[in-house]
Amino acid sequence: MIYSTNEVKKRIHIDSQREAFYDFDHILQEEIKLVKSEKYLEKLYRGLPFEADLQAISTNIAEDFGLDGKLEISNKRNSYYYFGSIYIHPICWNNKNLETLLHEYAHLFMDCFFSTGHETAHGGEFAAALRFLLDFYDIVPKETYNELISTFAEDVSLYDNYIESFEFLTIEEFCKEKTKSKEKEVFNNNFTCRKFYLNFEKEEIHTKDQYHFYYSNGDKNKFIRVVLNKFAYETDHPFKKLSIEEILNTRLVSNVFIMDWHARPVKKYEGFQGFAEYRGDYFLHLKDDQETISSVSWASPEIVHTNNSQRFDICIPKEKVSGTRYANKKRKEYIQKCRKEGINIVTSNSQLEFDFLQEQLKNRCHELHHQQIQEKKMLEY
Ligand SMILES: [Zn+2]
Repeated sequence: MIYSTNEVKKRIHIDSQREAFYDFDHILQEEIKLVKSEKYLEKLYRGLPFEADLQAISTNIAEDFGLDGKLEISNKRNSYYYFGSIYIHPICWNNKNLETLLHEYAHLFMDCFFSTGHETAHGGEFAAALRFLLDFYDIVPKETYNELISTFAEDVSLYDNYIESFEFLTIEEFCKEKTKSKEKEVFNNNFTCRKFYLNFEKEEIHTKDQYHFYYSNGDKNKFIRVVLNKFAYETDHPFKKLSIEEILNTRLVSNVFIMDWHARPVKKYEGFQGFAEYRGDYFLHLKDDQETISSVSWASPEIVHTNNSQRFDICIPKEKVSGTRYANKKRKEYIQKCRKEGINIVTSNSQLEFDFLQEQLKNRCHELHHQQIQEKKMLEY
């Protein structure tokens, strides 16, 4: 039994919508100009003059959502979002281009509030995040946004039902809701993570069809619940019916790529301050597992693979000049060896695809684990 990824999901290309989205930005920009000429955007400006600079507007947004992000003038050729901070191109800054600010805020919102881990930078989820912001501030209503984006339908997708709800809660409501959600059928383990640069504690609860995210920032007295809908392909896929034995007999093998020391794929390894000793090393891995990577990393120049979690890691030092070719060869050998042994092989061709497939396998594991617990409970009664 071998699944090709084509059977599992549609292919996601890395940020294929970007250029088209920039065109859509221009349309939005015109729309915002029009709206601004007709009405005062009270919810966003709050007494500020219309000529207010982006800094003042950004301060209002940050205050509304309890964010700690910085806003700066970009010294690159474009405006961009990076690790909780927004950098605005000088021309957009001088023109007080609200659309640019909101576009970058949509990236920040994707990172902070709306990320499930397999979205692309300007994908359908991003389009939904930008719509959320424009709607939240009564700038462009959802219906108008949908109409505007529909003229780009061939090039820009909008995941219409991605964001189910976004609510500010009191701390009492927050705790109550969280407990209620936990009592529901839960697939993934709960876990908390901290967006250190935005100062939010996040707790995730995955139900069958939805992601429930709980954000708290006690310092800013912000308690937020976000519910995102899963896509059909996230819940309905061939892995869904695998038994424990079949899962244990399955290996997920990734594409070959270079990554930085955070285990993020990169085109070119640039290194980080203080980690210069790793510069230039080629890393290839088949699972996003930083712990594994740091423990196998620099020690073994060859292949490391563990059987317990469908994982296969390769690590190649800088000295191997043809690192990619070498890794591809090793990957092929590994696949052949597995097939001979009767192991199911699932391959992927991009990092996004791999992350997605891995999530599916994990979900099935959690599901089986959950079933086992339930069955055990039944026996105990
Ligand atoms: Zn962007």
